[in-house]
Amino acid sequence: MAFEDSLWHHTAQLDLAPRASLPGDVDVDVAIVGAGYTGLWTAYYLHEQDPALRIAVVEREIAGFGASGRNGGWCSALFPPASVAIARKHGRDAAVAMRKAMHGAVVEVGRVADAEGLDVHYARGGTIQLARNRAQLTRARELVEDEERSTGNVEGLELLSKEEAEAHARGTRVLGGTYTPHCAAVHPLRLVRGLADRVEARGVSIYERTPAVEVRPREVVTAGGTVRADVVVRATEGYTASLRGDRRRLVPLYSLMIATEPLPASAWEQIGLERRQTFADLRHMRIYGQRTADDRLAFGGRGAPYHYGSRVDPEFDRDGRVHAALREVLVDLFPVVGDYSVTHEWGGALGIPRDWNASVGFDRARGFGWGGGYVGDGVATTNLAGRTLARLIAGEDDEITRLPWVGHRSRSWEPEPLRWVGVNCGRLLMTTADRSEARSGKPARRAKAFARFVGY
Ligand SMILES: Cc1cc2nc3c(=O)[nH]c(=O)nc-3n(C[C@H](O)[C@H](O)[C@H](O)COP(=O)(O)OP(=O)(O)OC[C@H]3O[C@@H](n4cnc5c(N)ncnc54)[C@H](O)[C@@H]3O)c2cc1C
Repeated sequence: MAFEDSLWHHTAQLDLAPRASLPGDVDVDVAIVGAGYTGLWTAYYLHEQDPALRIAVVEREIAGFGASGRNGGWCSALFPPASVAIARKHGRDAAVAMRKAMHGAVVEVGRVADAEGLDVHYARGGTIQLARNRAQLTRARELVEDEERSTGNVEGLELLSKEEAEAHARGTRVLGGTYTPHCAAVHPLRLVRGLADRVEARGVSIYERTPAVEVRPREVVTAGGTVRADVVVRATEGYTASLRGDRRRLVPLYSLMIATEPLPASAWEQIGLERRQTFADLRHMRIYGQRTADDRLAFGGRGAPYHYGSRVDPEFDRDGRVHAALREVLVDLFPVVGDYSVTHEWGGALGIPRDWNASVGFDRARGFGWGGGYVGDGVATTNLAGRTLARLIAGEDDEITRLPWVGHRSRSWEPEPLRWVGVNCGRLLMTTADRSEARSGKPARRAKAFARFVGY
């Protein structure tokens, strides 16, 4: 049960007792399936827009049980796809607008937390990405050049020398890196639970331990009753494949995490991260970490296998091999961590669309909305999704509802066994590309391109 195993669960200091289940049939204006950030931000802004709306959120477990309660806590402006791809497809203005909207989302999460009195440990220290071999250094340069070309670098992404990078984080083999100020470290579970409490206090009904068996326009069917609504919003991200009719929409990909015991000041002198900057290096198989408010390292990475048939199961939240590898990578990056214990191991499922492009949308004719496919960059993006859905549902047309991700539809994933073969081959190719880059210092572009082609 990795939800209970997570550092966030251990340190939340909140009442996590389940709320009541759906007692029978109900009629509301808006029914939302999934009480993660997407569902709850949508409820939050819908209520703000029109306090008279009757809103119900239906949640299979408890609010925050999914990725929202277990993630790495990077409230970042990262967005899939990258600016360069948005500029290519929609033009430079759209890419700039998307970047600015994401910067706004990072700020907005902090603003609402403050306004609502939620102590989510928000620290806007930015993100340091270290380049630890020559190929990663090349990638750092390319990332900054790409931002410059596609948006004029409104991101303010800085290319750092070795000394500048080490002023943020004193990792091993650092050759340089990039820094962006647009990221805050947060306690993810405190954020999602706080949101649930605030929307509930305003009259939004949250039905927990209420799995939806069918989600269709105007109706959410559960074992305990049906929620009838003018508008239905699907906000089930990594669990979407378990819904009838949505099996090939999003692949659940596991990201796994570890956390250390609190580290003493002497260890932090060696590591850095004085402003709680979130950190990573520039390998292909993504890793991510944060210094928590109680001075631990919470550290995660992808690399766990994709499970046949897009299955999601609590047993997949733990993987001895991947958790051990995460510890090795962290100790390799910051050797002093080797002197301290790993106290928590957990994981959860991300939602990946076939084209790796997040999207949000509302089909007015069917009264059906959705947000998702954030590919592991959902902490801030879900805030933008919630605001966007609220405006789309209200029928507004403004700069947010015109952003390029609105209404985007990815093609479906391939049927099995092609999906299993493609995703797992791609995953292995990414790892191989990282190994080859560490050895040769040359960017493994072909392996990466092929991994993307087969689905990873
Ligand atoms: C280990 C890990 C680390 C991550 N790190 C980061 C990070 O550092 N930064 C970042 O930006 N993103 C990160 N992410 C991604 C981010 O957490 C997600 O993109 C985001 O939380 C998605 O929110 P959501 O509300 O759409 O989905 P979720 O939080 O997954 O919520 C979906 C909810 O729907 C419920 N549900 C599913 N099916 C049903 C059903 N049939 N009926 C009723 N309810 C249902 C689930 O129980 C769940 O509570 C990470 C994800 C993981 C797993």
